[in-house]
Amino acid sequence: MQLVKANVVSIAPLTEYVYKVELKPSEPVSFEAGHYLQLVLGEKDKRAFSIASRPSQTELLELHIGASEENSYAMQALDHLKEHFANNTQADVEVGLGISQLRTESELPVVLLAGGTGFSYVKSMADHLAEIKSTRPVFFYWGVRDESALYAKDEMEKWAASQANFNFIPVVEHASDNWQGHTGYVHKAVMKDMDSLAPYEIYMAGRFDMIGPVRDDFIAHGAIRENMYADAFAFIK
Ligand SMILES: Cc1cc2nc3c(=O)[nH]c(=O)nc-3n(C[C@H](O)[C@H](O)[C@H](O)COP(=O)(O)OP(=O)(O)OC[C@H]3O[C@@H](n4cnc5c(N)ncnc54)[C@H](O)[C@@H]3O)c2cc1C
Repeated sequence: MQLVKANVVSIAPLTEYVYKVELKPSEPVSFEAGHYLQLVLGEKDKRAFSIASRPSQTELLELHIGASEENSYAMQALDHLKEHFANNTQADVEVGLGISQLRTESELPVVLLAGGTGFSYVKSMADHLAEIKSTRPVFFYWGVRDESALYAKDEMEKWAASQANFNFIPVVEHASDNWQGHTGYVHKAVMKDMDSLAPYEIYMAGRFDMIGPVRDDFIAHGAIRENMYADAFAFIK
């Protein structure tokens, strides 16, 4: 873990509730795809956010923060960042945290599963796999409540088109009549598409109340627990 000071370079809305934040650390930082950082609000108040940017991009760190009125955890963090941005002061951040980073030594096919802003966690891995020209089959599932939350759909479709082994599957929980793809919970779409999850290495991020049921459903569908990664496992039973 590296404690650094960082300038808030930009804060821009991606949707009505999700903000993209760019931080410029005052020194080069080192992290792996899938790591998170902690924004230090106080001595005992640190807020975790996945690093959306890829590890080779050491000068600017990108975050996606889902800050709705009912999510004070994220809202307060965003307000803290806005204050630094307005005053041109530096935030304290701890970079390179987590144990659920991409295992680059493995050759197993990969399922990247994101619920909502869990997208940030798997986006870094997807970009890193593209950068290292990985030949592993990669299935990137992104589940959102409605279509307006698919803020990076075009970008991900381009990513999927960049290599034959990359697949992007958006899943809309409450879809409009025009929606052509999967609907419902994102992990149910994975189980519909794949007969067994035994061959896969699985990385997932989303709401805490999502991760427990997904882990159990995936194991019942053949997934091997040792090949499943989520930093949320540390926070749930
Ligand atoms: C280490 C760590 C890093 C974090 N990083 C970030 C971050 O970078 N940005 C951030 O905003 N927050 C982060 N959080 C907080 C938390 O992960 C997010 O609040 C959460 O991902 C937000 O989801 P959402 O509200 O966008 O999803 P929602 O919009 O509520 O849900 C999106 C989709 O998830 C699936 N889903 C939701 N609930 C369930 C369920 N009960 N069962 C099955 N599927 C379900 C569905 O497919 C749904 O459509 C982090 C937390 C930790 C511990």
